[in-house]
Amino acid sequence: MTASYEDLKPYLEKRTMLEASLTLLGWDLETLAPEEAVERTATVSELLENALREAILEPEVRRTVEALEGSPQLSPEQAAVIRVLREELEQLEKIPEKEYRAYANLKATASSIWARARSESDFSRFEPVLEKILDWTRRFASYRAKPGQEPYDVLLEDYEKGFPMKVLDPFFARLEQELPALARQAQEVQREWDDGFLHQPYEVETQREFNRFLAEYMGLSPRRTVMAESAHPFTTSLHRDDVRITTHYYETMPASAIFSTIHEGGHALYELNVAPELTQTPVGGGASCSMHESQSRFYENMLGRRREFWVPLYGKLQSLFPEQLGTIPLERFVQGINRVEPGLIRTEADEVTYSLHVLVRYQLERELMAGRLPVRELPERWNALYETYLGVRPSCDGEGVLQDIHWAQGSFGYFPSYALGSAFAAQIGQSMERELPVGQLLEQGRLAEITQWLAEKIHRFGAVKPAGQLLEEVSGRPFSADAYLDYLQAKVHSF
Ligand SMILES: [Zn+2]
Repeated sequence: MTASYEDLKPYLEKRTMLEASLTLLGWDLETLAPEEAVERTATVSELLENALREAILEPEVRRTVEALEGSPQLSPEQAAVIRVLREELEQLEKIPEKEYRAYANLKATASSIWARARSESDFSRFEPVLEKILDWTRRFASYRAKPGQEPYDVLLEDYEKGFPMKVLDPFFARLEQELPALARQAQEVQREWDDGFLHQPYEVETQREFNRFLAEYMGLSPRRTVMAESAHPFTTSLHRDDVRITTHYYETMPASAIFSTIHEGGHALYELNVAPELTQTPVGGGASCSMHESQSRFYENMLGRRREFWVPLYGKLQSLFPEQLGTIPLERFVQGINRVEPGLIRTEADEVTYSLHVLVRYQLERELMAGRLPVRELPERWNALYETYLGVRPSCDGEGVLQDIHWAQGSFGYFPSYALGSAFAAQIGQSMERELPVGQLLEQGRLAEITQWLAEKIHRFGAVKPAGQLLEEVSGRPFSADAYLDYLQAKVHSF
């Protein structure tokens, strides 16, 4: 019996149904659901996740995938779907179901233990569960490792294909070499800058009005997007005609909501511009975590922190907040949103020091996965690395090792994609500057033409092409740290 791509249809539909349900429940839990809904709704999510896993492991799917792999009759999109299905099968099949469920249970409780430990700033509470998560993660990675492959490389592959330690080590080494000095240089120039006006009270309802305006300005039409609020801003999508973002308002930090909106807006534009024929398929999202992050950070930093971006917008912001900004000229506002200041918290970091926070986590993950760093010594090692790279030392674990949720969720190997995203963005930006008068377009409020360029070169392909290949096609060369460091250097010198 010969297999045809059509045989996958009922399975792909089931998958679309389950994924959309999971997305919607997840969105609801973070935005509107009442506090006490969490536990029971989580059991529904778990049932859906099990159903999804079962669907992926259906023997019929495996047979069809095996029969069709490498078939010349497949379109590039279909071949990409087969590739994704094959990768998922390999990830899941090597882990015995009983172990998979036990691990899922552990993760379900780990997040709340982490949250409690963080609020009490007490690492010893989290230590035993982190130890277990790490053991499981290492074991699963060893099941899936190719001969000679290190466990950490297995995990890195899950998030970004083609970026193992062999590629990441020299990348991070260059950041380690250049960024601390660059941050010191920026601080030196900025000593006289006064950005106190960005730390006064800004009425939250008025902030909402501006951020809604800003999202629409970016091209997030209310006909296809929704904007809500959550503790930690994020983007999610059901398909290309229903993309949702959140932001978070702090009364005395208006820049926080603004840059969260622009960041998540960048993620959203990616999802909104995926080709219609790809959406609701396994390749209907972004090419990879790093490529997704490249788009959000491109809008947030490389566009959103430029003076030209604010030329058409700043008057509106001033008119909404006349007391706070009425006498502040555009130039000072732009200085304020570009302040470089080494701090303790990754999500609040400026553009120059951001990747140093990622470097710390990369080094720690590498040491933990290799068994060179005992979990009990993690807080001290964390603090020491912060002191070395950023010159600051956490006074408690809450503002140190407990600040991110990733490890509680078993996401080892994810952090590097934040730094890679910034580096991809710079490399893509260089090539855009050769083809478009970016500054002029921004000044004239023609952001749509910039988005159009990205949609054409990146967004529309969804996950059909691997991220590394896409990056090379867009920028005309393989990945390197050059564009990123050139960009940051030019920026600091322009202050
Ligand atoms: Zn992001």
